[in-house]
Amino acid sequence: RSAAAWRRQHMQCNAALMWFRRDLRIADNAALYHALKTSRRVYCVFVFDRAILDALPSRTDRRVEFIHASIVELDSALRRHGGALMVRHGHAVMDIPALAHSLKVDAVYANHDYEPAATARDANVARQLKGHGIAFHTFKDQVLFEKDEILTGSGTFYSVFTPYKNAVLKKLDAFYLLAYPVGKYLGALAPGQAPGRNAARETAPAGAAVSAGNVASAAAMPSLEQMGFARTNLAQRKIPVGETGAQKLFRDFKQRMAAYEERRNFPAVKGPSYLSVHLRFGTISFRTLAREAWKAWHGAADFAGRRGAEVWLAELIWRDFYFHILHHNPHLVERAFKPQWDAIRWDSGAQADQLFAAWCEGRTGYPLVDAAMRQLNQTGYMHNRLRMVTASFLTKDLGIDWRRGERYFAEQLIDFDLSANNGGWQWAASTGCDAQPWFRIFNPVTQSEKFDAEGKFIRRYLPALAALPNQAIHAPWIATGDQLRRANVLLGECYPLPIVDHTVARTRTLARFGAVTGRVTPAP
Ligand code: FAD
Repeated sequence: RSAAAWRRQHMQCNAALMWFRRDLRIADNAALYHALKTSRRVYCVFVFDRAILDALPSRTDRRVEFIHASIVELDSALRRHGGALMVRHGHAVMDIPALAHSLKVDAVYANHDYEPAATARDANVARQLKGHGIAFHTFKDQVLFEKDEILTGSGTFYSVFTPYKNAVLKKLDAFYLLAYPVGKYLGALAPGQAPGRNAARETAPAGAAVSAGNVASAAAMPSLEQMGFARTNLAQRKIPVGETGAQKLFRDFKQRMAAYEERRNFPAVKGPSYLSVHLRFGTISFRTLAREAWKAWHGAADFAGRRGAEVWLAELIWRDFYFHILHHNPHLVERAFKPQWDAIRWDSGAQADQLFAAWCEGRTGYPLVDAAMRQLNQTGYMHNRLRMVTASFLTKDLGIDWRRGERYFAEQLIDFDLSANNGGWQWAASTGCDAQPWFRIFNPVTQSEKFDAEGKFIRRYLPALAALPNQAIHAPWIATGDQLRRANVLLGECYPLPIVDHTVARTRTLARFGAVTGRVTPAP
């Protein structure tokens, strides 16, 4: 009774519109919680934004399919609680103000998106809403700390991870990890709509004219095909989607969290959580994951349990760190974190283009690099160790601009996130904050021997090399004629010879960076 009284007293809105973006869930959703708590009636909308979709280079994109499947699930979940999801295929910047106006809502609610293009879009939407007398309330949801919440003693952003992590851990307490109790307020969801193109009209307040367009309820949700996209292999690969998929993956990972530190670097082993796509689209709450890691770190009975959770929590904080870096340095979208590195002369021209194509297609002749690129192309995922190896190979063995690799990953990765991807690429290319020093160059063969010693991962993605013995699989060009014959491997035919010599490439890279620093390159 007192909660209801509190709600009546604090109710500010008659009607509100919850705009889902990269937070495709009900549980522990900050904006949804605030919308429901402060409004009598909450409509929900998702826009397949043509400003993003039309710019995608391929009409076969696992992300679009992942989002589509996840919003079908979200719509069903909202319907179970008396609500519904309106789905549009249009331009968010026009559709959101128009819809909010037609529904006569007092406010639009959304969670913060920190990417420069998204903040510009939101500022535009906010301006238009204001013109209609509608408020735009936005909330922190996908990170632990945002914007200026964590700053150095002198009030600047952190550019080194470890002190940033220490500052986060110092500030982090139960308050920041608390879940928003959305469930208590679901009664405020606006009633579901009957299927049909004009479904939104049926739930609009009397007299409100909902603008024509692709407004649809679940049954009339635009299909992938209607939006011009083809199905991918998402279902074949059994990639779990939606809130239920994320929960399933997390339940599985919780059993393995204690072994995370020990197993996370070996791509053939089930070590990491595989939750990145769910964090990207918000089908699971970041707070929930951080809270579980925090609890395990402080509560696990044994050292391994505590250590595994601590290391995993640190990885989650890396994600926050790159959001922090991008927020304070929007120039990263185009340029190096350290302006000095914009002077690097990367290779370009026809030969560089050929090398780049070989890298993209997994034909470099370096098995671990090629297996990794094929994992990316076939699944949309790549193991973290391999992201480092392949990014290092492109920039430091092939001498190609990190921005080309970053763009290719952005097209292929199902979990593509501008901040983490840019952070990872600039780390590997040594142009970023707290990056790999420029004179540290991964040896792709040594990395292979260390992290895929038995060649299990390589064999999974390069069946042509499957019969090579472990000693030869990391560098087939040094295998004996007998080993190659027995394995039925004809180099240059069924598998390429190396497209560069690592030792030569290393020397060129040291010279490339040395030309910028003017420093004598360190000895190998
Ligand atoms: P887990 O090991 O289970 O980690 C849990 C979560 O922590 C991840 O899901 C992710 O959200 C976060 N995380 C872990 N490592 C990092 C990291 N180094 N930086 C930032 N966040 C991290 N991650 C993306 O989510 N999107 C990207 O586009 C992306 N591009 C990358 C590009 C390069 C060149 C590199 C080196 C790394 C990139 N990463 C990216 C970081 C990392 O590789 C992935 O987050 C991780 O492999 C995802 O697998 P997982 O969910 O099983 O990770």
